[in-house]
Amino acid sequence: MPSSADRIEDYIRVHSLREAPALKALRLENETKPRFNMQFTPESAQLLQMMLRLMGAKRGIEVGTFTGYSGLAIALALPHDGKLICCDVSEEYTAAARRHWEKAGVAAKIDLRLGPALATLDTLIKAGAGKYDFMLIDADKTGYDGYYERALVLLRAGGLIAIDNVLWGGAVIGASGGGADTRALRALNNKLAEDERVDISMLPLGDGLTLARKR
Ligand code: CA
Repeated sequence: MPSSADRIEDYIRVHSLREAPALKALRLENETKPRFNMQFTPESAQLLQMMLRLMGAKRGIEVGTFTGYSGLAIALALPHDGKLICCDVSEEYTAAARRHWEKAGVAAKIDLRLGPALATLDTLIKAGAGKYDFMLIDADKTGYDGYYERALVLLRAGGLIAIDNVLWGGAVIGASGGGADTRALRALNNKLAEDERVDISMLPLGDGLTLARKR
């Protein structure tokens, strides 16, 4: 018999998850691929869509695109003149992403930048700080702190930073130990807990999702 926590999770899913057909098709295609566990969860995507709609968000950045699930979810929630800059290093994974964005009719909202995200973000900073409404961080974990610091420069006051995988399967619990990814996430979580530059909320959605609002 499934645990009470599993049954509650199922109940929530049945009663609240509204995954757009284009998102579902993308997810089902990717479920068979290696590294599928890297994909943003449908629940996290739906929450992010809600936040972006509440904010009236128009311009954002995604660091870590993978096969495009979160990018598609974001693009669907943006107005038709909205823009999302997607940063990733993988030509292979983002090729699938592009195909799904085209099919869903949101490709015009997405500007994919292939290359190391830090360099892309620094280029965007030179073009103008404080202009973006949100940033999703879901890429290499040792890079998170650098992406977060740049988000604080790129976002307007009141902008939203969403950071995925902050619980890292629970490995972040405890004061020390773990590999480089675990240590990077733990250090970032410790920093955010006391960071006066943001309001935060850490949610147990997916593998842990932190929302930070720039003050
Ligand atoms: Ca993730």
